[in-house]
Amino acid sequence: MRTRTLGRTGLAVSEITFGGIPILQQDFADAERVLRTALDEGITSFDTARGYGDSEEKMGRVLADRDCLIMSKAHRTDGAGMLGELEKSLASLRRDCVDVYAMHQVASADQLGQCLGPGGALEALLKAKRDGKVRAIGITGHHRPTLVSAVEQAGDAIESVMFLFNPLETDALDRLVPMCVDRGVGLIAMKAAGAGIWTPKEVLASTKWCLSHPITCANIGFSTVEEVQAVSPLGREDLSPTTEDERIVQSLRDQYELTYCRRCGECAPCPKGVNIWGTLVGESMVKRLGWKQLGERNYLDNVRKARDCDECGLCIERCPWSLNIPALLPEALDRIERLA
Ligand code: SF4
Ligand code: SF4
Repeated sequence: MRTRTLGRTGLAVSEITFGGIPILQQDFADAERVLRTALDEGITSFDTARGYGDSEEKMGRVLADRDCLIMSKAHRTDGAGMLGELEKSLASLRRDCVDVYAMHQVASADQLGQCLGPGGALEALLKAKRDGKVRAIGITGHHRPTLVSAVEQAGDAIESVMFLFNPLETDALDRLVPMCVDRGVGLIAMKAAGAGIWTPKEVLASTKWCLSHPITCANIGFSTVEEVQAVSPLGREDLSPTTEDERIVQSLRDQYELTYCRRCGECAPCPKGVNIWGTLVGESMVKRLGWKQLGERNYLDNVRKARDCDECGLCIERCPWSLNIPALLPEALDRIERLA
C-alpha cells in the first residue's frame, strides 16, 4: 500500500489507516482476524484511543511485534492526567513508544487553553517526547475553529491533526487543510467513510474523494474482514475519480446535505438540555461504539431529553449548516430506540 509522510515528522503512514473503534465490540478472536487481514492488505498504520474500550489491548496483542505505526490518544487536558493515560496506553499496546499520541476531542477554546497552558497536556506530551515515549504529538477534535487555533498557538509542538473530512464535511478545506499543509502538520481524516451508515459503494467513493486531497491518510473504522478487503485496494489503485465516483459523491450530498450533523457543537447549549449532536448522530454511535461503551441506560435517558425540545429555534440559528434540528431530533431518536 502507498504511504504518505505525516507532515514534518517524516513518519510514513499508509493511505488507509485502520480506525480502532469498531473492534471494541468484537471478541479478541474476531478483532485479531480483522487486524491480521489489515496487515495482509498492507495497512501499516493503526489508530486507537484510551476511550475506545479494549481497542488498545486488542491492537497490542496483534501488533506488538509488528513494524507498524500506532496512533493513540487520551481525553485529558491536564498534564498529570495525560501522562497517566499515556502509561496505560503503552502497557495496553505493549510498546515503549507510541508513534503519535494526541489530545483527544479538544472541543472548545477553554479546553484548548487548559491543554496548552502551564501544567497542561501539551507540556506533558513534550516531556514524554523528550523521554522517548512518544514520537509525535497530535490533536483531534470535531470543532474546526479550535483545531485551527491549536495549530496557530502551539507553534511546532503539534505535528498532526485528526479532523472530520468527507464529501459532506469539506469546510476544513477553507483554512485548516491549507494551513497544516503550509506548516508541515500531518492531516488524518476521520469519518472519511461516513461513520458506519453509508453503503459499501458510498464508503469507497467517499474514501477515494478524501485521498484525492492533500491529506496524509483516511482513517477508516473496520469491523469485518470483508470491509478491510473492500477498502484497502484504494491504497494501491489510481485515485482519479471516475464518473461513477462523482455520481455517488453528488448523490451523498443530495441525500444528506440538509440532514447530516457535522458534530461541530456550535448549536450548544440547548436551553432545554437536549444533547443535540449526541442524538443526531446517535445511530452511528450506537452502531460503532455499542451500548455498553455508551453507558446503556444513561445514554438512552440522555438522548430522550430530545423530547423536551420546545422548537425554540435557537439551535437552527447557531448551526452553520442551518439544519432543521427540531425536525430531525424525533427521527434520530426513533432510529436510536429501534436499536435498543
Ligand atoms: S429548538 Fe429544541 S433543541 Fe434546539 S435549542 Fe430549542 S429546545 Fe433546544
Ligand atoms: S446540529 Fe449543526 S451545529 Fe449542531 S453539531 Fe450538528 S452540524 Fe454542528
